[in-house]
Amino acid sequence: MNIIEKTYNWNGSLKNRTSTKRIILHHAESKSCTADDIHSWHLANGWAGIGYHFFVRKDGSIYRGRPENVIGSHAKGSNSDSIGICFEGSYMTETMSQTQINAGRELVTYLKNKYGISKVQKHKDVCSTNCPGTNFPFGAIVNGTVATAPAPSQTSTAKPTSNEKVTGTYEVTASDLSVRTGPGTGYRRKRHDELTKDGQKHDKDKDGCLEKGTRVTVYEWKNGWARTPSGWLCGDYLRKV
Ligand SMILES: [Zn+2]
Repeated sequence: MNIIEKTYNWNGSLKNRTSTKRIILHHAESKSCTADDIHSWHLANGWAGIGYHFFVRKDGSIYRGRPENVIGSHAKGSNSDSIGICFEGSYMTETMSQTQINAGRELVTYLKNKYGISKVQKHKDVCSTNCPGTNFPFGAIVNGTVATAPAPSQTSTAKPTSNEKVTGTYEVTASDLSVRTGPGTGYRRKRHDELTKDGQKHDKDKDGCLEKGTRVTVYEWKNGWARTPSGWLCGDYLRKV
């Protein structure tokens, strides 16, 4: 297995991790991004830099994130004894390629053996989030079992086709919904201080994401994305009220 080493400029010092008991898996919630993109997003969150220890790209390449021996910043309350792995892609809606599954499986197996651990969790097992997504092939990556086709989820059946072009009041259905500068995951996520005053009230953890249940006014739709006073939101996670 090849790990592509990276050098990052850290904002502040990193703390050594004294215990490694588990591996926690994430998706980037972005169809296409690099380790450097994630580093800059996490810097914008006010963190030291990329919060994951590894980043697995769709082409199967594996990048180093935070040094393996330091505490990550990827699962609130569970960072002190875990290694965080992030997968490029957005697995509430996408399906993972076999190439990426194989790379992830290889990395997870390598880390399990290296640390003598067997516990692997999804981010949503430890935090209130939908990460790494309902289509994420957890079993295939962790146990090497063949992934079964994901059951049609509430989210994927409720595609915003009916939402399209209907402006008005909507409610956020995801636990932490990113606000972007434009209509698509290619645009960057906004910081807490870039949201409207009202938006900031619905972002108590100050990560720039709106909480579940937040009411927003949609002025405009573009490619399934909704423009609101604070910025652009993915229509998959909005319900008309
Ligand atoms: Zn996550």
